[in-house]
Amino acid sequence: MLDSERISVKLGRFRPSLTLQLRLLARERTERGLPVYDFGLGETKGELAPYIREAAEKAYRDGQTMYGDPAGLKELRSVVLDWLGLDDGYGIDNVVVTTGAKQSLFNVFLAICDPADCVLLDAAPWVSYQPLAVAAYGFPVMVLPAAGAANYLKISAEDLRRNLRMRPSAKLFLLNNPCNPTGQLYTAEEVESLLEVCIEHRIFFVLDRLYWRLLYDGATYPEPRLDEETRRWIIHVDGISKNFRRTGGLRIGWSVAPDDVSRAMANLQSHYTSGPSTPAQHAALAAIRHPYDRHLRDELQENRDLLRAHADKLPLVKVWPTPAAFYSFWDVRECFGRRTPAGRVLESSEDLAEYLIRHWGVVTAPGSAFMQEGYLRVSFAVPRQELEAGIEAATQALAALH
Ligand code: PLP
Repeated sequence: MLDSERISVKLGRFRPSLTLQLRLLARERTERGLPVYDFGLGETKGELAPYIREAAEKAYRDGQTMYGDPAGLKELRSVVLDWLGLDDGYGIDNVVVTTGAKQSLFNVFLAICDPADCVLLDAAPWVSYQPLAVAAYGFPVMVLPAAGAANYLKISAEDLRRNLRMRPSAKLFLLNNPCNPTGQLYTAEEVESLLEVCIEHRIFFVLDRLYWRLLYDGATYPEPRLDEETRRWIIHVDGISKNFRRTGGLRIGWSVAPDDVSRAMANLQSHYTSGPSTPAQHAALAAIRHPYDRHLRDELQENRDLLRAHADKLPLVKVWPTPAAFYSFWDVRECFGRRTPAGRVLESSEDLAEYLIRHWGVVTAPGSAFMQEGYLRVSFAVPRQELEAGIEAATQALAALH
């Protein structure tokens, strides 16, 4: 075997997440006692709710630590349907509990795709969609909005149709609503028109709805239409990582899918994880069975409003409106070609992100991580004081470019 053959061609091409290098720079600053404003995280902070913690503790105390059903605890699968309002159209056999929403996505690709089948992604795909699709031998393709369309990178039914004409091997279209990284929310009409195209072309409509409780200004979640026709093609992916405080590390997600797809995924799961950790499933069960605590959303909305109030004062940057999730998306193309005080010309979102961290302690995620050069993703799921100080630092950093 040649040295170059030790790792498969597929995984040999994987790069660690772009944001890793930026994290190291942030850590260096912390070690030197310099301030860091962490807007790079995709996670809410704060305390884990006691009822979630106690459910996991109780599961350990009660010896709930033996192998369970590979598709997940029956009780949790049933409550997942309540949580999503899907109990009328589905039964627990349609629910597969996974190790985070990530594994649900991987299950979907593995269950549906044959080698080189095309996986259509929306226009600013979340960082792991492509690696997961490729690892499942799928062929990921981004659907871009038509040139000149300015709908905050939301794609239309026509955009999807255009891609489907060119990609007859497409098996699924994956929509992230609300969208990480752009913070956009497709309306019910937009969701319906995309769903219709999927059904017309007999491809799956995979809906990653991980941030679906974090909608602002009184919006309600635009549920896709559920009837006999759509039920054959819709796959919901969700979990507890984002809609609660401090729950990302519990690693629980789930999918709700048609019978055949769920069966294939549960089968697969019986061979490669035997289902997620049982105590963590008990924690998830407690989380979603409890009346939903809207404080988190309200607090995030206040942060969003604070950021918006300062948006006009940020030099060179256009801040997009954020109807949902906790990411503010900044168009930073005007920064390119400008020099930092140290004389470096900024040419990309990575250059800008590096400058912001290295010299000002402001951690963001470069748009290139989401295949959208020219933007920065700024997470506002941070304590208020850190948000205020960080916006101030970012304002100074941008004003220092010439
Ligand atoms: N989908 C989106 C859009 C995400 O932002 C994330 C995590 O950041 C995931 C899926 C994966 O979620 P989990 O941490 O539950 O695996």
